[in-house]
Formats: sequence, structure tokens, C-alpha cells
Amino acid sequence: MQIKLVVTTMLCAAALCAQEDPAVMKAEAQVEKIADLVDRGALPKIRLEKAHEAVLDAKDESLLRKTLYGKDLTLAQCDAMIEAAVRRLERRTKAAEGQDSLVAAGVISRSEMTTSADEVDRAKKERDWAVSRAKLVEQLAETARLEQALSTTLQNAPGEAHKIAERYDGNGIFTPRDFQRVEHAFESKFAKPMPISAIGETALHRSLGFDHRNRVDVAVTPDEPEGIWLRQYLTANRIPYFAFRAAVAHRATGAHIHIGPQSTRIANGG
Ligand SMILES: [Zn+2]
Repeated sequence: MQIKLVVTTMLCAAALCAQEDPAVMKAEAQVEKIADLVDRGALPKIRLEKAHEAVLDAKDESLLRKTLYGKDLTLAQCDAMIEAAVRRLERRTKAAEGQDSLVAAGVISRSEMTTSADEVDRAKKERDWAVSRAKLVEQLAETARLEQALSTTLQNAPGEAHKIAERYDGNGIFTPRDFQRVEHAFESKFAKPMPISAIGETALHRSLGFDHRNRVDVAVTPDEPEGIWLRQYLTANRIPYFAFRAAVAHRATGAHIHIGPQSTRIANGG
């Protein structure tokens, strides 16, 4: 009973959230206004179709704001993000192609032309960005899967764990202050920021059922100069780490250095 209530409340909250996006609300209000004018014969029917398209576009834009321009993504959100960006590109391409004929037919005036070649270009860039962001999330998922594989192996066959990652336990503690020191030392040594792929818990880790709080993943392969230096630094300072080599031979996919104790599975109440 209580669970049902919680689920219902969550669904209502989600529905409310979607409704509350001001751009979507504005586009929906415009549909009502135009429908009325079309009914009265003041506007051609095609204007209503365009208004409906604008609602769909606003919804896609809202989704992209939460995903492509958002902070944290799961694998499940990536497909929806790419689909929304592709739809926005298709709409603009179609609009750019079709608006000349609308002007010629006198349906809209030249000043009402809303889709330019620049907008099509922007939508293309947005689509490309969505695709590359999804690839990045896939890489992060690969690092998380490697850590999961290690966790399982450490539990079931600890002797085999070295095949997945090099382990250094140090003093078993990794604090935010340690992290600052490591980051600072890396920057001093290589004159560039330390390439961090995941700080602490992310939506991706949560979606994979993985507790990654107070752990940091650094996107360096253990055997490149940065990786070799980092392992030496962590060892000298007794900071625990796991160095993951490539998940697939001859490919760097998933290779990284995890600083901090081993991640654990999120308890699911069982
Ligand atoms: Zn990690």
C-alpha cells in the first residue's frame, strides 16, 4: 500500500515536472491559440501542424537540457538523448527545405522564416555532441564494469584478481585532502589538469548498482608516463589504488586508475 502510494506520488511528480517546463508550456499554449484561429478560418491548418511540431521540439529541447547539457548521465538516457538531437536536426532540415515553398505560397512572410542554414548547422553540432557524449558515457560504463568484475573476482576467487587490476592497499584511507594533494602534485608534474573521469558517486554508478562514494577514477592507462608517475606517487603516500589495464587487449577501453578503497555493491535491502 505504502509502496503504491510512493510510486503514484513519484509518477505525479514526474508528470508535474514535465508540465512545468516553461518552454513546453508556452508551446502548448500557442497550440490552443492557433487551434482557435484555425477553427475560425483566420489561419491555414498548416499553422496548427507547425504549432504541434513546436511542442514536440520544446519537449526534445527540455530532454536535451536534462541530458546533453546536464551533469550526469546513465546509459539508458543516452539513446533518448541522441534520438531527441536527431529529431531536432530532422525538423530543422525539413523546415529549412520547406519554408521557401511556404513563402512562395504566401502561407508565411519572409520575415516569419524561422529556420536558417545556421540553425541546421547548430542542430548538426548538437547531434554530433550528443553522439560523442554518449560514447564518453559508454567508456565510463566500461571502467565501472571493470571495477564490478574486480569486485566479483575479489569475492569469489581473490587469487585471480591480479589479472584484472594491480592492487595497492596503502593505509586503506583516501580523504578529500589526499585527493587535493594528488591533483596538485599531478598538475605540478605534468603542467595540465589530472584527467578525472569520475569523482565519487555518479548516476552511472548508481544505475549499475555500484557504490563509488569517496573514490576517484583517473583516465590514464597505468603504463603511460602519467600512470607510472601516479602509481609511484600513491605508493609513496600510502594511498590505496587499483590500476586497471585494458579490458580488451591492445585497446585502452576501460583502462584507468581508481584511487581509494575498492567500490562495493549498493545494498538493495537483501
Ligand atoms: Zn573507480
